[in-house]
Amino acid sequence: MASERDFNEVISGLAKKRGFYWGPSPEIYGGSSGFYDLGPLGKLLKNRLESVIRSSFVRSNFWEVECPTVSPEIVWKASGHLDGFMDPLTQCTKCDQVYRADNLIEEHSNDASLKGLSLDEMTKKIEELGIRCSACKSELGPVQQHNLMLKTKLGLDQDAYMRPETATTTYLLFKRFLTFFRDKLPASVFQIGKAYRNEISPRQGMLRLREFTQVEGQIFILEEDEMNWPQFEDIKDVELPLLAYQVQEKGNEKVSMVKMSEAVKKGYFQKPAYAWCVWLAYEIFRGMGFTNENMRLRQHLLNERAHYAADAWDVEIQTRSFGWVECCGIHDRGNYDLTRHQEFSKERMSVKVNKQPVVPNVLEIAFGVERPLFCLLDNSYAEDEERNWLKFPPPLAPVQVAIFPLMGKPELLTPAQEIFNAVLDSGLVTQFDRGGSIGRRYRRQDEVGTPFCVTVDYDSLEDSTVTVRDRDSMEQVRIKREELVETLHKLVKGTILFASLAK
Ligand SMILES: [Zn+2]
Repeated sequence: MASERDFNEVISGLAKKRGFYWGPSPEIYGGSSGFYDLGPLGKLLKNRLESVIRSSFVRSNFWEVECPTVSPEIVWKASGHLDGFMDPLTQCTKCDQVYRADNLIEEHSNDASLKGLSLDEMTKKIEELGIRCSACKSELGPVQQHNLMLKTKLGLDQDAYMRPETATTTYLLFKRFLTFFRDKLPASVFQIGKAYRNEISPRQGMLRLREFTQVEGQIFILEEDEMNWPQFEDIKDVELPLLAYQVQEKGNEKVSMVKMSEAVKKGYFQKPAYAWCVWLAYEIFRGMGFTNENMRLRQHLLNERAHYAADAWDVEIQTRSFGWVECCGIHDRGNYDLTRHQEFSKERMSVKVNKQPVVPNVLEIAFGVERPLFCLLDNSYAEDEERNWLKFPPPLAPVQVAIFPLMGKPELLTPAQEIFNAVLDSGLVTQFDRGGSIGRRYRRQDEVGTPFCVTVDYDSLEDSTVTVRDRDSMEQVRIKREELVETLHKLVKGTILFASLAK
Protein backbone atom coordinates (compact mmCIF):
# COMPACT_ATOMS: atom_id res chain seq x y z
CA MET A 1 0.00 0.00 0.00
CA ALA A 2 1.24 3.49 -0.83
CA SER A 3 2.45 5.60 2.09
CA GLU A 4 0.29 8.41 3.46
CA ARG A 5 2.50 11.07 1.88
CA ASP A 6 1.84 10.16 -1.70
CA PHE A 7 -1.64 8.70 -1.45
CA ASN A 8 -3.04 11.89 -2.95
CA GLU A 9 -0.77 11.18 -5.94
CA VAL A 10 -2.28 7.71 -6.30
CA ILE A 11 -5.82 9.12 -6.32
CA SER A 12 -5.00 12.07 -8.58
CA GLY A 13 -3.12 9.76 -10.95
CA LEU A 14 -6.09 7.41 -11.22
CA ALA A 15 -8.49 10.37 -11.54
CA LYS A 16 -6.42 11.77 -14.40
CA LYS A 17 -5.91 8.48 -16.21
CA ARG A 18 -9.51 7.29 -16.05
CA GLY A 19 -11.29 10.63 -16.48
CA PHE A 20 -12.61 11.53 -13.03
CA TYR A 21 -11.01 14.97 -12.90
CA TRP A 22 -8.30 16.92 -14.68
CA GLY A 23 -6.42 20.03 -13.83
CA PRO A 24 -5.60 22.56 -12.72
CA SER A 25 -7.64 23.96 -15.56
CA PRO A 26 -7.06 25.08 -18.29
CA GLU A 27 -4.29 22.50 -18.58
CA ILE A 28 -3.10 23.39 -22.09
CA TYR A 29 -2.37 26.93 -20.90
CA GLY A 30 -0.49 25.86 -17.79
CA GLY A 31 -3.51 25.81 -15.45
CA SER A 32 -4.76 28.15 -12.71
CA SER A 33 -4.67 26.49 -9.31
CA GLY A 34 -8.05 26.01 -7.67
CA PHE A 35 -9.85 25.15 -10.92
CA TYR A 36 -10.58 21.59 -12.06
CA ASP A 37 -12.45 19.96 -14.91
CA LEU A 38 -14.62 16.95 -14.25
CA GLY A 39 -14.13 14.19 -16.79
CA PRO A 40 -16.94 11.87 -17.89
CA LEU A 41 -16.70 9.57 -14.83
CA GLY A 42 -16.26 12.45 -12.39
CA LYS A 43 -19.36 14.14 -13.78
CA LEU A 44 -21.37 10.92 -13.44
CA LEU A 45 -20.14 10.49 -9.86
CA LYS A 46 -20.97 14.10 -9.00
CA ASN A 47 -24.46 13.70 -10.46
CA ARG A 48 -24.97 10.64 -8.25
CA LEU A 49 -23.85 12.52 -5.13
CA GLU A 50 -26.10 15.45 -5.99
CA SER A 51 -29.06 13.18 -6.48
CA VAL A 52 -28.49 11.58 -3.05
CA ILE A 53 -28.24 15.05 -1.53
CA ARG A 54 -31.36 16.26 -3.33
CA SER A 55 -33.51 13.34 -2.27
CA SER A 56 -32.33 13.60 1.37
CA PHE A 57 -33.38 17.24 1.50
CA VAL A 58 -36.66 16.67 -0.29
CA ARG A 59 -37.52 13.77 2.04
CA SER A 60 -36.97 16.17 4.94
CA ASN A 61 -39.36 18.78 3.52
CA PHE A 62 -36.84 21.16 1.97
CA TRP A 63 -37.70 22.88 -1.34
CA GLU A 64 -34.99 23.56 -3.91
CA VAL A 65 -34.33 27.01 -5.39
CA GLU A 66 -31.72 28.44 -7.75
CA CYS A 67 -30.36 32.00 -7.66
CA PRO A 68 -27.90 34.02 -9.78
CA THR A 69 -24.18 33.56 -9.04
CA VAL A 70 -23.42 37.29 -9.49
CA SER A 71 -24.87 39.96 -7.20
CA PRO A 72 -24.32 43.72 -6.89
CA GLU A 73 -21.98 45.08 -4.23
CA ILE A 74 -24.73 46.13 -1.79
CA VAL A 75 -25.69 42.48 -1.21
CA TRP A 76 -22.19 41.67 0.07
CA LYS A 77 -22.01 44.86 2.11
CA ALA A 78 -25.21 43.79 3.84
CA SER A 79 -24.12 40.17 4.29
CA GLY A 80 -20.84 41.24 5.88
CA HIS A 81 -18.69 39.48 3.28
CA LEU A 82 -17.17 42.68 1.92
CA ASP A 83 -15.72 43.55 5.32
CA GLY A 84 -15.44 40.16 6.94
CA PHE A 85 -14.78 37.43 4.37
CA MET A 86 -11.01 37.61 4.65
CA ASP A 87 -7.93 35.45 4.74
CA PRO A 88 -4.92 36.59 6.75
CA LEU A 89 -1.91 36.87 4.44
CA THR A 90 1.78 37.59 4.85
CA GLN A 91 4.12 38.48 2.02
CA CYS A 92 7.85 37.86 1.76
CA THR A 93 9.66 41.20 2.15
CA LYS A 94 12.16 40.22 -0.55
CA CYS A 95 10.60 37.96 -3.22
CA ASP A 96 6.91 38.91 -2.71
CA GLN A 97 5.78 35.29 -2.28
CA VAL A 98 2.40 35.28 -0.48
CA TYR A 99 1.41 32.87 2.33
CA ARG A 100 -1.72 32.19 4.36
CA ALA A 101 -0.55 33.28 7.82
CA ASP A 102 -2.83 30.92 9.78
CA ASN A 103 -1.69 27.91 7.72
CA LEU A 104 1.97 28.83 8.17
CA ILE A 105 1.56 29.01 11.94
CA GLU A 106 -0.32 25.71 11.98
CA GLU A 107 2.41 24.02 9.94
CA HIS A 108 5.10 25.24 12.34
CA SER A 109 3.31 24.52 15.59
CA ASN A 110 1.06 21.79 16.92
CA ASP A 111 -0.66 24.08 19.40
CA ALA A 112 -4.44 23.90 18.80
CA SER A 113 -4.98 27.09 20.82
CA LEU A 114 -3.38 29.06 17.97
CA LYS A 115 -6.65 29.07 16.01
CA GLY A 116 -8.51 32.38 15.77
CA LEU A 117 -5.57 34.72 16.47
CA SER A 118 -5.88 38.41 15.54
CA LEU A 119 -3.72 39.90 12.74
CA ASP A 120 -1.24 41.44 15.20
CA GLU A 121 -1.05 38.23 17.22
CA MET A 122 -0.29 36.29 14.03
CA THR A 123 2.45 38.74 13.03
CA LYS A 124 4.00 38.28 16.49
CA LYS A 125 3.64 34.50 16.39
CA ILE A 126 5.40 34.28 13.00
CA GLU A 127 8.29 36.25 14.48
CA GLU A 128 8.35 34.15 17.67
CA LEU A 129 8.39 30.88 15.75
CA GLY A 130 11.08 32.27 13.44
CA ILE A 131 9.04 31.43 10.31
CA ARG A 132 10.65 32.72 7.12
CA CYS A 133 9.87 32.67 3.40
CA SER A 134 10.26 29.06 2.28
CA ALA A 135 11.37 30.22 -1.17
CA CYS A 136 14.19 32.65 -0.29
CA LYS A 137 14.45 32.43 3.52
CA SER A 138 13.87 36.17 3.94
CA GLU A 139 11.68 37.81 6.55
CA LEU A 140 7.90 37.87 6.20
CA GLY A 141 5.91 41.11 6.35
CA PRO A 142 3.02 42.01 8.69
CA VAL A 143 -0.12 39.90 8.41
CA GLN A 144 -2.87 41.62 6.41
CA GLN A 145 -6.41 40.84 5.33
CA HIS A 146 -7.26 39.74 1.80
CA ASN A 147 -10.87 39.60 0.64
CA LEU A 148 -11.82 36.22 -0.82
CA MET A 149 -14.53 37.41 -3.21
CA LEU A 150 -14.05 37.53 -6.97
CA LYS A 151 -14.96 40.97 -8.25
CA THR A 152 -16.60 41.72 -11.56
CA LYS A 153 -18.57 44.53 -13.20
CA LEU A 154 -22.15 44.75 -14.37
CA GLY A 155 -22.50 46.93 -17.45
CA LEU A 156 -19.78 49.56 -17.52
CA ASP A 157 -19.40 50.61 -13.93
CA GLN A 158 -21.52 48.75 -11.38
CA ASP A 159 -19.35 46.77 -8.96
CA ALA A 160 -20.51 43.24 -8.40
CA TYR A 161 -19.17 39.99 -6.94
CA MET A 162 -19.36 36.29 -7.75
CA ARG A 163 -21.14 34.77 -4.76
CA PRO A 164 -18.81 33.23 -2.15
CA GLU A 165 -21.74 31.14 -0.82
CA THR A 166 -25.23 30.30 -2.03
CA ALA A 167 -26.75 31.05 1.40
CA THR A 168 -26.88 34.82 1.06
CA THR A 169 -28.63 34.61 -2.32
CA THR A 170 -31.22 32.33 -0.69
CA TYR A 171 -31.88 34.83 2.14
CA LEU A 172 -32.65 37.62 -0.36
CA LEU A 173 -35.81 35.69 -1.29
CA PHE A 174 -37.21 35.61 2.24
CA LYS A 175 -40.28 37.76 1.43
CA ARG A 176 -41.12 35.49 -1.52
CA PHE A 177 -40.75 32.41 0.68
CA LEU A 178 -43.26 33.84 3.14
CA THR A 179 -45.84 33.98 0.34
CA PHE A 180 -44.89 30.53 -0.96
CA PHE A 181 -45.10 28.96 2.51
CA ARG A 182 -48.31 30.95 3.29
CA ASP A 183 -46.60 32.81 6.15
CA LYS A 184 -45.92 29.57 8.01
CA LEU A 185 -42.62 28.92 9.75
CA PRO A 186 -40.50 26.87 10.03
CA ALA A 187 -39.78 26.88 6.29
CA SER A 188 -36.95 24.91 4.69
CA VAL A 189 -35.21 25.55 1.37
CA PHE A 190 -31.94 24.49 -0.21
CA GLN A 191 -29.76 25.42 -3.13
CA ILE A 192 -27.13 23.51 -5.12
CA GLY A 193 -24.98 25.77 -7.25
CA LYS A 194 -21.61 27.31 -8.01
CA ALA A 195 -19.76 29.52 -5.54
CA TYR A 196 -16.40 31.28 -5.88
CA ARG A 197 -13.54 31.99 -3.50
CA ASN A 198 -10.42 33.82 -4.55
CA GLU A 199 -8.01 31.79 -2.44
CA ILE A 200 -4.35 32.75 -2.54
CA SER A 201 -2.28 29.95 -4.09
CA PRO A 202 -4.67 27.13 -3.16
CA ARG A 203 -3.05 23.71 -2.73
CA GLN A 204 -4.48 20.27 -1.92
CA GLY A 205 -6.06 19.83 -5.38
CA MET A 206 -9.79 19.17 -5.28
CA LEU A 207 -10.02 20.17 -1.60
CA ARG A 208 -9.32 23.85 -2.16
CA LEU A 209 -11.13 25.24 -5.14
CA ARG A 210 -11.71 28.77 -6.37
CA GLU A 211 -14.87 27.62 -8.12
CA PHE A 212 -16.94 24.83 -6.62
CA THR A 213 -20.45 23.47 -6.29
CA GLN A 214 -22.00 24.33 -3.00
CA VAL A 215 -24.96 22.75 -1.27
CA GLU A 216 -26.70 24.82 1.37
CA GLY A 217 -29.90 23.97 3.20
CA GLN A 218 -31.61 26.66 5.29
CA ILE A 219 -34.36 26.46 7.87
CA PHE A 220 -36.09 29.74 8.72
CA ILE A 221 -37.33 29.22 12.25
CA LEU A 222 -38.63 31.05 15.32
CA GLU A 223 -36.79 30.68 18.58
CA GLU A 224 -39.56 28.75 20.35
CA ASP A 225 -39.68 26.22 17.48
CA GLU A 226 -35.93 25.62 17.78
CA MET A 227 -36.60 24.25 21.24
CA ASN A 228 -39.77 22.46 20.21
CA TRP A 229 -38.89 20.45 17.08
CA PRO A 230 -41.17 17.40 16.70
CA GLN A 231 -38.86 15.64 14.20
CA PHE A 232 -36.28 15.29 16.98
CA GLU A 233 -38.46 12.54 18.46
CA ASP A 234 -37.78 10.37 15.37
CA ILE A 235 -34.00 10.49 15.83
CA LYS A 236 -33.56 10.65 19.59
CA ASP A 237 -32.31 7.05 19.77
CA VAL A 238 -29.93 7.34 16.82
CA GLU A 239 -26.24 7.18 17.77
CA LEU A 240 -23.85 9.59 16.07
CA PRO A 241 -20.03 9.66 16.13
CA LEU A 242 -19.61 12.86 18.13
CA LEU A 243 -16.60 14.85 19.23
CA ALA A 244 -18.01 17.64 21.39
CA TYR A 245 -16.29 20.85 22.39
CA GLN A 246 -16.39 19.79 26.05
CA VAL A 247 -14.48 16.62 25.19
CA GLN A 248 -11.86 18.40 23.07
CA GLU A 249 -11.39 20.98 25.80
CA LYS A 250 -10.08 18.19 28.04
CA GLY A 251 -7.44 17.45 25.39
CA ASN A 252 -9.33 14.41 24.12
CA GLU A 253 -9.73 13.66 20.40
CA LYS A 254 -11.68 10.45 20.90
CA VAL A 255 -14.98 10.13 19.09
CA SER A 256 -17.77 8.29 20.87
CA MET A 257 -21.09 7.00 19.63
CA VAL A 258 -23.66 9.06 21.49
CA LYS A 259 -27.45 8.81 21.37
CA MET A 260 -28.96 12.12 20.27
CA SER A 261 -31.18 12.31 23.37
CA GLU A 262 -28.07 11.71 25.49
CA ALA A 263 -26.14 14.41 23.59
CA VAL A 264 -28.84 16.97 24.41
CA LYS A 265 -28.80 15.88 28.06
CA LYS A 266 -25.01 16.25 28.21
CA GLY A 267 -25.37 19.78 26.84
CA TYR A 268 -23.57 19.03 23.54
CA PHE A 269 -26.59 20.57 21.82
CA GLN A 270 -28.71 23.41 23.20
CA LYS A 271 -31.50 23.23 20.63
CA PRO A 272 -33.28 20.09 19.37
CA ALA A 273 -33.84 21.68 15.91
CA TYR A 274 -30.12 22.37 15.54
CA ALA A 275 -29.27 18.86 16.77
CA TRP A 276 -31.63 17.50 14.11
CA CYS A 277 -29.74 19.49 11.44
CA VAL A 278 -26.50 17.85 12.57
CA TRP A 279 -28.21 14.47 12.22
CA LEU A 280 -29.51 15.39 8.72
CA ALA A 281 -26.01 16.36 7.59
CA TYR A 282 -24.76 13.01 8.96
CA GLU A 283 -27.53 11.17 7.06
CA ILE A 284 -26.65 12.95 3.81
CA PHE A 285 -23.00 11.91 4.20
CA ARG A 286 -24.05 8.33 4.97
CA GLY A 287 -26.04 8.43 1.74
CA MET A 288 -22.86 9.52 -0.03
CA GLY A 289 -21.16 6.32 1.09
CA PHE A 290 -19.37 7.32 4.30
CA THR A 291 -19.58 5.17 7.42
CA ASN A 292 -18.96 5.59 11.14
CA GLU A 293 -15.46 4.21 10.58
CA ASN A 294 -14.36 7.17 8.47
CA MET A 295 -16.66 9.97 9.62
CA ARG A 296 -16.99 12.11 12.71
CA LEU A 297 -18.99 15.14 13.80
CA ARG A 298 -16.75 17.69 15.46
CA GLN A 299 -17.94 20.74 17.36
CA HIS A 300 -16.02 23.98 16.80
CA LEU A 301 -13.95 25.39 19.63
CA LEU A 302 -15.13 28.83 20.76
CA ASN A 303 -12.32 30.66 18.92
CA GLU A 304 -13.10 28.84 15.65
CA ARG A 305 -16.67 30.09 15.43
CA ALA A 306 -17.81 32.91 13.16
CA HIS A 307 -18.86 36.09 14.95
CA TYR A 308 -22.56 35.38 14.31
CA ALA A 309 -22.51 31.65 15.07
CA ALA A 310 -24.10 30.51 18.30
CA ASP A 311 -22.97 26.93 17.66
CA ALA A 312 -21.07 25.14 14.89
CA TRP A 313 -20.36 21.50 14.12
CA ASP A 314 -18.49 20.02 11.16
CA VAL A 315 -18.78 16.70 9.37
CA GLU A 316 -15.21 15.46 8.96
CA ILE A 317 -14.09 12.56 6.78
CA GLN A 318 -10.93 10.57 7.39
CA THR A 319 -8.78 10.26 4.26
CA ARG A 320 -5.54 8.48 3.45
CA SER A 321 -4.40 11.54 1.48
CA PHE A 322 -4.87 14.34 3.99
CA GLY A 323 -6.04 12.84 7.31
CA TRP A 324 -9.29 14.32 8.65
CA VAL A 325 -10.90 16.62 6.11
CA GLU A 326 -13.59 19.12 7.04
CA CYS A 327 -16.44 18.49 4.59
CA CYS A 328 -19.59 20.17 5.91
CA GLY A 329 -20.56 22.87 8.40
CA ILE A 330 -23.79 23.00 10.37
CA HIS A 331 -24.37 26.59 11.51
CA ASP A 332 -26.72 28.30 13.88
CA ARG A 333 -26.72 31.70 12.14
CA GLY A 334 -29.28 33.31 14.45
CA ASN A 335 -31.13 36.21 12.82
CA TYR A 336 -27.95 37.99 11.76
CA ASP A 337 -28.45 37.66 7.99
CA LEU A 338 -32.12 38.59 7.75
CA THR A 339 -31.63 41.51 10.13
CA ARG A 340 -28.77 42.86 8.02
CA HIS A 341 -30.75 42.53 4.78
CA GLN A 342 -33.74 44.23 6.39
CA GLU A 343 -31.47 47.09 7.40
CA PHE A 344 -29.81 47.51 4.00
CA SER A 345 -32.79 46.81 1.72
CA LYS A 346 -35.41 48.56 3.91
CA GLU A 347 -37.66 45.61 3.13
CA ARG A 348 -39.49 43.74 5.86
CA MET A 349 -37.74 40.48 6.81
CA SER A 350 -39.94 39.62 9.76
CA VAL A 351 -43.07 37.70 10.65
CA LYS A 352 -45.75 38.65 13.16
CA VAL A 353 -45.64 36.88 16.51
CA ASN A 354 -48.30 38.10 18.95
CA LYS A 355 -48.71 41.11 16.66
CA GLN A 356 -45.03 42.00 17.06
CA PRO A 357 -42.56 41.80 14.13
CA VAL A 358 -39.92 39.12 14.75
CA VAL A 359 -36.97 38.39 12.47
CA PRO A 360 -36.62 34.58 12.41
CA ASN A 361 -33.43 32.63 12.98
CA VAL A 362 -31.63 30.52 10.39
CA LEU A 363 -30.20 27.02 10.80
CA GLU A 364 -27.89 25.98 7.98
CA ILE A 365 -26.21 22.87 6.53
CA ALA A 366 -23.43 23.90 4.14
CA PHE A 367 -20.91 21.95 2.09
CA GLY A 368 -19.19 21.69 -1.27
CA VAL A 369 -19.77 18.61 -3.46
CA GLU A 370 -16.15 18.28 -4.63
CA ARG A 371 -14.77 17.48 -1.17
CA PRO A 372 -16.98 14.44 -0.52
CA LEU A 373 -16.33 13.42 -4.14
CA PHE A 374 -12.57 13.41 -3.52
CA CYS A 375 -12.98 11.75 -0.10
CA LEU A 376 -15.13 9.01 -1.64
CA LEU A 377 -12.42 8.27 -4.24
CA ASP A 378 -9.82 8.27 -1.46
CA ASN A 379 -11.89 5.99 0.79
CA SER A 380 -12.91 3.64 -2.04
CA TYR A 381 -9.47 2.91 -3.43
CA ALA A 382 -8.32 -0.66 -2.87
CA GLU A 383 -5.42 -2.67 -4.24
CA ASP A 384 -3.73 -6.07 -3.97
CA GLU A 385 -0.97 -7.84 -5.92
CA GLU A 386 -3.34 -8.47 -8.82
CA ARG A 387 -5.34 -5.33 -9.32
CA ASN A 388 -6.56 -1.99 -8.03
CA TRP A 389 -10.23 -1.17 -7.77
CA LEU A 390 -12.69 1.42 -6.45
CA LYS A 391 -15.13 -0.17 -4.05
CA PHE A 392 -17.88 2.45 -4.44
CA PRO A 393 -21.19 1.48 -2.86
CA PRO A 394 -23.06 0.14 -5.95
CA PRO A 395 -25.76 2.89 -5.93
CA LEU A 396 -23.02 5.55 -6.28
CA ALA A 397 -20.80 3.92 -8.92
CA PRO A 398 -20.50 6.11 -12.04
CA VAL A 399 -20.88 3.13 -14.38
CA GLN A 400 -23.22 0.54 -12.87
CA VAL A 401 -23.00 -2.35 -15.31
CA ALA A 402 -20.60 -3.40 -18.07
CA ILE A 403 -21.62 -5.88 -20.78
CA PHE A 404 -19.04 -8.04 -22.54
CA PRO A 405 -19.37 -10.48 -25.40
CA LEU A 406 -16.79 -13.18 -24.61
CA MET A 407 -15.40 -12.77 -28.12
CA GLY A 408 -16.04 -10.44 -31.03
CA LYS A 409 -17.89 -13.10 -33.05
CA PRO A 410 -21.25 -12.10 -34.57
CA GLU A 411 -23.14 -14.92 -32.81
CA LEU A 412 -22.05 -13.45 -29.45
CA LEU A 413 -22.07 -9.77 -30.44
CA THR A 414 -25.73 -9.73 -31.41
CA PRO A 415 -27.17 -11.12 -28.14
CA ALA A 416 -24.67 -9.05 -26.11
CA GLN A 417 -25.81 -5.92 -27.93
CA GLU A 418 -29.46 -6.81 -27.23
CA ILE A 419 -28.73 -7.30 -23.53
CA PHE A 420 -26.81 -4.02 -23.46
CA ASN A 421 -29.80 -2.18 -24.96
CA ALA A 422 -32.22 -3.78 -22.48
CA VAL A 423 -30.08 -2.92 -19.44
CA LEU A 424 -29.41 0.62 -20.70
CA ASP A 425 -33.09 1.24 -21.46
CA SER A 426 -34.01 0.08 -17.96
CA GLY A 427 -32.18 3.15 -16.63
CA LEU A 428 -28.80 1.79 -15.51
CA VAL A 429 -25.61 3.49 -16.71
CA THR A 430 -24.13 0.71 -18.83
CA GLN A 431 -20.98 0.28 -20.86
CA PHE A 432 -20.40 -2.10 -23.75
CA ASP A 433 -16.83 -3.32 -24.06
CA ARG A 434 -15.62 -5.81 -26.68
CA GLY A 435 -11.92 -4.86 -26.64
CA GLY A 436 -9.14 -7.14 -25.35
CA SER A 437 -9.12 -10.26 -23.19
CA ILE A 438 -11.93 -10.75 -20.71
CA GLY A 439 -9.47 -10.39 -17.81
CA ARG A 440 -8.30 -7.01 -19.07
CA ARG A 441 -11.88 -5.84 -19.49
CA TYR A 442 -12.64 -6.82 -15.87
CA ARG A 443 -9.57 -4.87 -14.68
CA ARG A 444 -10.62 -1.76 -16.59
CA GLN A 445 -14.07 -1.83 -14.97
CA ASP A 446 -12.60 -2.59 -11.53
CA GLU A 447 -10.39 0.46 -11.83
CA VAL A 448 -13.38 2.78 -12.29
CA GLY A 449 -15.49 0.98 -9.70
CA THR A 450 -18.13 -0.67 -11.91
CA PRO A 451 -19.80 -3.07 -9.45
CA PHE A 452 -21.15 -5.68 -11.91
CA CYS A 453 -19.98 -7.09 -15.23
CA VAL A 454 -22.13 -9.30 -17.46
CA THR A 455 -20.47 -11.70 -19.89
CA VAL A 456 -22.24 -13.33 -22.81
CA ASP A 457 -20.50 -16.60 -23.76
CA TYR A 458 -21.25 -19.76 -25.78
CA ASP A 459 -23.24 -21.33 -22.92
CA SER A 460 -25.50 -18.26 -23.12
CA LEU A 461 -26.57 -19.38 -26.58
CA GLU A 462 -27.35 -22.90 -25.31
CA ASP A 463 -29.24 -22.22 -22.07
CA SER A 464 -30.09 -18.50 -22.27
CA THR A 465 -28.05 -17.55 -19.20
CA VAL A 466 -25.27 -15.00 -18.69
CA THR A 467 -22.44 -14.62 -16.20
CA VAL A 468 -22.63 -11.81 -13.64
CA ARG A 469 -19.38 -11.01 -11.90
CA ASP A 470 -19.02 -9.09 -8.64
CA ARG A 471 -16.30 -6.41 -8.50
CA ASP A 472 -15.27 -6.86 -4.85
CA SER A 473 -15.26 -10.65 -4.49
CA MET A 474 -14.57 -11.34 -8.21
CA GLU A 475 -17.05 -14.21 -7.85
CA GLN A 476 -19.33 -15.11 -10.74
CA VAL A 477 -22.86 -16.52 -10.95
CA ARG A 478 -25.01 -17.54 -13.89
CA ILE A 479 -28.31 -15.73 -14.17
CA LYS A 480 -31.23 -16.44 -16.49
CA ARG A 481 -31.40 -13.85 -19.19
CA GLU A 482 -35.01 -12.94 -18.51
CA GLU A 483 -34.19 -12.26 -14.84
CA LEU A 484 -31.06 -10.23 -15.59
CA VAL A 485 -32.44 -6.67 -15.70
CA GLU A 486 -34.44 -7.04 -12.49
CA THR A 487 -31.55 -8.73 -10.68
CA LEU A 488 -29.11 -6.01 -11.75
CA HIS A 489 -31.45 -3.31 -10.44
CA LYS A 490 -31.69 -5.03 -7.07
CA LEU A 491 -27.92 -5.49 -6.92
CA VAL A 492 -27.22 -1.85 -7.83
CA LYS A 493 -29.79 -0.53 -5.36
CA GLY A 494 -28.37 -2.84 -2.72
CA THR A 495 -31.71 -4.54 -1.99
CA ILE A 496 -30.03 -7.91 -2.56
CA LEU A 497 -26.41 -8.81 -1.97
CA PHE A 498 -24.33 -10.59 -4.57
CA ALA A 499 -23.38 -13.22 -1.97
CA SER A 500 -27.02 -14.28 -1.72
CA LEU A 501 -27.02 -15.10 -5.45
CA ALA A 502 -23.79 -17.07 -5.22
CA LYS A 503 -25.34 -19.24 -2.44
ZN1 LIG B 1 10.91 35.14 -0.32
